[in-house]
Amino acid sequence: MAYLDGIKSIEALDLDGKRVFVRVDFNVPLDNGVITDDFRIRQAIPTIQYIIRNGGLPIVASHLGRPKTNPSPEFSLRPVAERLSDLLPEREIIFAEDCVGEGVLEASRRLVPGQILLLENLRFYEEEEGKPRGKFATDEEKDQAKKLLKEKQKAFAASLAELADVYVNDAFGTCHRAHASMATMVPYFGANKGCGFLLKKEIEFLGGIIYDPKHPFVAILGGAKVSDKIGVIEALVEKCDQICIGGAMAYTLLSAKGVDVAASRVERDALDIAARILDKASHSKCELLLPVDHVVAKDLDDASASSIVESFPEGMAGLDIGPKTRDIYAEVVKKGKAVFWNGPMGVFENPRYAEGTIAVAKALTECQGITVVGGGDSAAAIRVFGLDEKVTHVSTGGGASLELVEGKTLPGVEALRQG
Ligand code: AMP
Repeated sequence: MAYLDGIKSIEALDLDGKRVFVRVDFNVPLDNGVITDDFRIRQAIPTIQYIIRNGGLPIVASHLGRPKTNPSPEFSLRPVAERLSDLLPEREIIFAEDCVGEGVLEASRRLVPGQILLLENLRFYEEEEGKPRGKFATDEEKDQAKKLLKEKQKAFAASLAELADVYVNDAFGTCHRAHASMATMVPYFGANKGCGFLLKKEIEFLGGIIYDPKHPFVAILGGAKVSDKIGVIEALVEKCDQICIGGAMAYTLLSAKGVDVAASRVERDALDIAARILDKASHSKCELLLPVDHVVAKDLDDASASSIVESFPEGMAGLDIGPKTRDIYAEVVKKGKAVFWNGPMGVFENPRYAEGTIAVAKALTECQGITVVGGGDSAAAIRVFGLDEKVTHVSTGGGASLELVEGKTLPGVEALRQG
């Protein structure tokens, strides 16, 4: 697909006998050091296995969470090393206690075929993100710290690059970030750089559905805030035949239309934007559907009294789309030739308000067209419902998938383009 023009696939790289730096996104959810969802780890395995099968020595690197100091034991990748060992019992996983420095360089040189070196969290170093940590008394001080850090970032990227001969990016979920391991280190590899299987698959499915969709092209958008997804909605209004809106963002849009949504969550400072979106949609060929009924309650803790309404009683908040809306959205989805879904239809974490999200997920599995689930909550939801195998593609990247849909270029992908 055109988005990947000029980018080598891993299959076009010479890996034999080479140390291969593989940037993955192992930013997995942890609960007291226990991985609660290993989806992202499992999705990167085909690339790691391919490297080994083709004689390469994988040096796997990732960030995890938002550490503020170096080291931050609660953000260590050690549990990931253990999970990787469970998933690849035939391989030896060597865990490096750091991601740069003499010890890691030595470990990279000692690697033998069949072994995998997993580096410690890249974000233990502020150089990775290039954002200075700490408090600054003045803006000048902060600017000065940023400049200094830019220089340190180059040295950090050079140290990472020294570890390997070939660079492979399989970290789709981080491709919207121009970080040291995603962008700054990449030019050191000249032509010996390319994309892994996961990155390729993500771009092919997400890029394919956006840049060359079959029609009817349907989007289902939900979640908390219109303001988070303005660019995405505006881009989709130009491409979709129908957009079904749910979640709290529906109440901001309904409110902008003049509907009284009582105590529902409304972003007051996004009402102008919501009105602009509605106006844009009304002048396009895209039909923007909003909920016609709602599951309401006084608040989330009010377990006794949720009810289904078409207009909002005073003091009640909309927490899920109602049954009529579910049916309408499900019909639209089922008729789609291409469907993109991002964001829950209600407060799906609470089973009482999960029905709308379940209905949309089920409709996706009954659609004969191409069905793509953007990352984040909707990806987690479809997997919790056990329906992920029945859609065409579930993305590993939340922010990255939205930026791609919005039409933005992803710095992690751009860095791979052959000069
Ligand atoms: P986002 O991260 O923007 O995709 O938003 C996901 C969050 O939106 C989830 O935690 C949902 O609980 C929340 N959400 C969805 N619908 C509603 C609603 N009607 N009222 C309040 N929060 C909602």
